[in-house]
Amino acid sequence: RWVPVSRLMRTVEGDALTLSQGRHELRFRTEGEAMIAGAEAELLSALGNLVTNAVRYTQEGGCIDVRWTVRPDGSGEFSVKDTGIGIAKEHLPRLTERFYRVDGSRSRETGGTGLGLSIVKHVVQRHGGELDIHSEPGKGSEFRIIFPALRVQRVEPVASSSVPLSAS
Ligand code: ATP
Ligand code: MG
Repeated sequence: RWVPVSRLMRTVEGDALTLSQGRHELRFRTEGEAMIAGAEAELLSALGNLVTNAVRYTQEGGCIDVRWTVRPDGSGEFSVKDTGIGIAKEHLPRLTERFYRVDGSRSRETGGTGLGLSIVKHVVQRHGGELDIHSEPGKGSEFRIIFPALRVQRVEPVASSSVPLSAS
């Protein structure tokens, strides 16, 4: 089953707008229309968890940037980047473990269970992809999901000259 990236992005954008309630600057960009081989509900939950985290762990007025890019080698990546609180290096190796949360007291007031990233990791693995995390405390985080070229099918924009204007 091929899932159009544009449809994933639209759904996730709607969710982000609802979650943020205007408290963040949100940017969504699709660079290279494409389809991904996989399960739509799973892909949505992976992306949704990353975006939910970005909203949850970014202070008011911060910026959240969600982007899809097709790379020159045909692979594709989603990037969810925020200017939020960031994550200290020592936490990164355990971040995708089930129930792992960074700081008990701080996390408690934001009320999650610590399952989101374990789901993301699971979904990414099932789709033959990779999860890449970069973060700096006080500066922000970037989570990238990379899909191999075999899982990505580019959708070329329809050239206007190939569209018949009238039957003749
Ligand atoms: P849940 O997703 O189950 O509601 P959660 O958000 O706490 O709860 P995860 O999504 O697995 O759980 O994230 C684990 C921890 O990683 C979080 O508790 C938080 O400390 C840290 N974290 C995740 N995403 C970010 C982010 N974008 N910025 C800063 N910290 C993050
Ligand atoms: Mg979460």
